[in-house]
Amino acid sequence: MILTSNSDIFLKMEKILRLSPIYNILQKAEHGERLSFEDGVRLFKSNDILHIGHIANIVRERKNGNKTYYITNRHINYSNICKNRCKFCAFSREKTESGSYEMALEEILEKAMTAVEEGATELHIVGGLHPDLPFDFYVKMIHEIHESCPDVHLQAFTAVEIEHLSQIARLSVRQTLRELREAGLGSMPGGGAEVFSPKIREQLCPEKLSGEGWLQVMREAHALGLRSNATMLYGHVETAEDRINHLMKLRELQDETGGFLAFIPLAFHPKNTELSNSTGTTAMLDLKVISISRLMLDNFDHIKAYWIMLGIKLSQVSLSFGVDDIDGTVQEEKITHAAGAETPEALSVREIIKLIKESGREPVERDTLYNPVRRKRALAQTR
Ligand code: SF4
Repeated sequence: MILTSNSDIFLKMEKILRLSPIYNILQKAEHGERLSFEDGVRLFKSNDILHIGHIANIVRERKNGNKTYYITNRHINYSNICKNRCKFCAFSREKTESGSYEMALEEILEKAMTAVEEGATELHIVGGLHPDLPFDFYVKMIHEIHESCPDVHLQAFTAVEIEHLSQIARLSVRQTLRELREAGLGSMPGGGAEVFSPKIREQLCPEKLSGEGWLQVMREAHALGLRSNATMLYGHVETAEDRINHLMKLRELQDETGGFLAFIPLAFHPKNTELSNSTGTTAMLDLKVISISRLMLDNFDHIKAYWIMLGIKLSQVSLSFGVDDIDGTVQEEKITHAAGAETPEALSVREIIKLIKESGREPVERDTLYNPVRRKRALAQTR
């Protein structure tokens, strides 16, 4: 058990913690007081990762006890053809460029049905902003998967894709979301948020939906009862101030709608991007972002380690630094692997359970909405 209460070792840590220059901030977090912008920036400027992580762990255990969630899911990246050219993206291609692809509906459907046969409870469907595919293609994709696999949850299309679809459909964002929801859309992933700072977006992804635009799409989705995740891409050119500003905007929207399920920090991978000179993230930065996010986002129930980007070993360590969710089986991932990710494209349920148990946590298989999944036969024994 990692639970910290009544543990001698953590009482000793408390004594050492009192000497830390960030003690007052961590005390606030421990007592459930909301942290300010200045508090968050000061935490980023500190290298006292063990103390920051210790308090993040207390908050994590207060919210989720010893549970660590995982999901049996499959990613479907239906096309990498994109009209944008974000400098941090190694995935997108122009239509005529070598390596471009778009899956036919039959192929998407086949992948979906195979995943469901193998026990997936969620399909995570995202792609580029295709310049030609009509809105009908997306509605049909969701509708046909939903018809063939009515029990699987469809988490599809980032806020950036939704805004693109609303443009090609010539519909409002709300009506676009309504039509997709009627077709079977269950929730939205949190991608495309990057870092909200207009200055950074101008520098890295000037064609992309603005940060305010991203938040507005999420506001509309939450108003319709569609839940979503939220992300932040870090480790490129952003500052500590940019990160805290991003987290505070997410916290404000969560206060307003309560629609976010989880926050997922995304560690930048520079290979094959226009920022390939960047060194990418370090373990220290990864753990800081994870634990400070846990402390700043007091109204988010879950902080997720996306092991594809974070790495399997550090994802396991993050379970003691504020993380309560280690994502899922994934099965096939193209976006981060185009940027040189060295993680595998899939983990078995058996591997995920091992990672969780070895860190002293209790594995809980969840569905997209964090309901526990009860299976007649454990998948861990079949894979
Ligand atoms: S990050 Fe998304 S919007 Fe930007 S180029 Fe890549 S696929 Fe297109």
